[in-house]
Amino acid sequence: MQLLDGKKTSQDIQLELADLVKAKVAKGGKSPHLAAVLVGEDGASLTYVNAKVKACERVGFKSSLIKLSQSISEEELLEEIEALNNNSDIDGFIVQLPLPKHIDETKITLAVDPTKDVDGFHPQNVGRMALGLPTFLPATPNGVIELLKRYKIQTEGKNCVVVGRSNIVGSPMSILMSRKGNPGNATVTLVHSRTKNMSEITKEADILIVALGIPEFINADMVKEGAVVIDVGIHRVEDATAKRGFRLKGDVKFEEVSSKCSFITPVPGGVGPMTIASLLMNTYQSVND
Ligand code: NAP
Repeated sequence: MQLLDGKKTSQDIQLELADLVKAKVAKGGKSPHLAAVLVGEDGASLTYVNAKVKACERVGFKSSLIKLSQSISEEELLEEIEALNNNSDIDGFIVQLPLPKHIDETKITLAVDPTKDVDGFHPQNVGRMALGLPTFLPATPNGVIELLKRYKIQTEGKNCVVVGRSNIVGSPMSILMSRKGNPGNATVTLVHSRTKNMSEITKEADILIVALGIPEFINADMVKEGAVVIDVGIHRVEDATAKRGFRLKGDVKFEEVSSKCSFITPVPGGVGPMTIASLLMNTYQSVND
């Protein structure tokens, strides 16, 4: 078994981006500027946003963190987004999800200027992705693709099973794995909560990509010997013996599954850091000069 080291790969990408930005700025170009909008005080969201902002600083991007109150109205948030759309110094921005229940996430996603939508969530960008046109690819699925590419994992003609069909992970993941290209050209099956006999299907996967949001759901009996396993899940599981009172776990039972597969992503240190690298790649792309 070999670990797919997302932390190291993300660091490599960040070093490459830092060199590109340095060279660009030396030629009089603009350093990319990412803004991150955080609504409320959710601990996990704050951690993710801070990690994104810090990563921007490491690669020489400008970053702005816009913290808004949990009680902000939908209309006020839409105004903030409009201001970012019109701010020519901001090249790309993200609105950290989830949003408070009184705000319609779809409305917010639709309000983001597609040319600044570095999360790749706007329907225009999702449509372009589906058609194989140049666009901002959604950060987490594209992070997985980048990891497979850099570890030279063969995907062509392989059976790939994606567990979960969310708009931000499972569904775009299945599109990227099945499209013509490398990585890609896989035969993809997408399973979800209504799938019958799920383990019969996952056991056929040469490449198993798991994004269902239940800690340690996938066990060794559900995985084929020698499979490549990508664990997108990330959960804070309470543990009184841990320093912070919790441990991070994925959707896969790492200990038992890792002894069976050829490659596996750890949690933490797998897909999470690749999501950040992917967001930075999109932000680099977002500068119009
Ligand atoms: P989500 O929106 O909750 O979607 C979960 C999907 O899994 C749904 O399609 C659901 O099916 C399916 N599902 C739920 N229970 C199932 C079951 N028992 N059997 C089969 N399918 C089942 O979650 P998400 O946003 O895609 O996130 C998934 C996980 O990835 C979470 O742990 C999240 O924290 C993590 N995540 C990590 C990153 C990262 O950067 N590492 C980024 C994003 C998300 P239905 O559609 O039928 O309900």
